[in-house]
Amino acid sequence: MKSLPITIDSVRKAYGSYVALDDVSLDIRAGEFLTLLGPSGSGKTTLLMALAGFVRPDAGKLLMGDRNITRLAPNKREIGIVFQNYALFPHMNVLANVEYPLALRRIPKAEARQRALDTLARVKLEDLSERSVAALSGGQRQRVALARAIVFEPRVMLMDEPLSALDKNLRETMQYEIRRLHDDLGITTIYVTHDQREALTMSDRIAVMNSGRIQQIDAPQRIYDRPSTRFVAEFMGEANIVAPGLVRRIDGAEGQREILMIRAESLHLDASLVGRDGVALDGTLRAKAFRGDNWLLTLALHGGQEILVCIPAALAGGCAELATGQWVTVYAPAGKVHAISGAMA
Ligand code: ADP
Ligand code: MG
Repeated sequence: MKSLPITIDSVRKAYGSYVALDDVSLDIRAGEFLTLLGPSGSGKTTLLMALAGFVRPDAGKLLMGDRNITRLAPNKREIGIVFQNYALFPHMNVLANVEYPLALRRIPKAEARQRALDTLARVKLEDLSERSVAALSGGQRQRVALARAIVFEPRVMLMDEPLSALDKNLRETMQYEIRRLHDDLGITTIYVTHDQREALTMSDRIAVMNSGRIQQIDAPQRIYDRPSTRFVAEFMGEANIVAPGLVRRIDGAEGQREILMIRAESLHLDASLVGRDGVALDGTLRAKAFRGDNWLLTLALHGGQEILVCIPAALAGGCAELATGQWVTVYAPAGKVHAISGAMA
């Protein structure tokens, strides 16, 4: 199956005076697994529906390969879609649901049946082909939806929060299965989620959206370690944003002028875990909480700003004895102190 790159070029969409997509441009590589990640209302679904053909952009264009699909009817786009709410046909059994896209494309009945069965085997549902979809669990329904989306061998797959209705364990299993299916098929995939960990786990690249704009597009580790904006830093995990004046260089060198981001888990109580060129922060312990695999400490810096410190349970010797109100110094390696241009505000 040949996958195709996608170009989103300066796409804009407004609902009345509300701008849902504000000049969005994004290139997705052939065969890539790209995730649109952002809070509710940031425009993820609108962008996905524009690609699917259900939302017409006010301006800009959409390409699949070299082909301009901006005005092409949805059923002509060769795109498989999986929605959050499954959208299966409840009165049909599993097999009929999966055969449906092939019937639409006038594939002969016998061939359609074989392809549907092969696809059901791919998503481990071959034993349930005669079952009514009404009698399936949430996870099984989502597998049927997946099978239905890929059975006609689309060039591109769009998935809008497909796992959000499932409980945590099943969600994690399905994350790996969807990623494996993507790797088997090599199909260009655009996946939507508001779940940071899901995006980090599954994606080749993540596009972080906020207020109808793409804030940053990068590989998961860069998004996490090197956020380009304060919004991305804070959306992607426990980020401490501190003014440079509150951070001491251990080696006494001049500090930086930008605002600094230090992740909670980059801070240590033990200075020996940090090199000479690391930094130190001093504060009063306001709270501590045991969270199973780690301790979360809250320190108030000079001036009152609070920061979070996450100490893995395995390294937490001494955390249990710390008393609130106590003066504590924490340390971070220089490589984990990331400068973000902009003001504290
Ligand atoms: P997300 O999927 O990131 O949660 P959406 O793309 O669904 O965001 O919505 C982006 C914004 O556009 C939201 O504020 C939403 O209320 C608004 N919106 C979406 N669809 C419509 C519509 N059909 N009419 C009016 N406003 C809409
Ligand atoms: Mg949405």
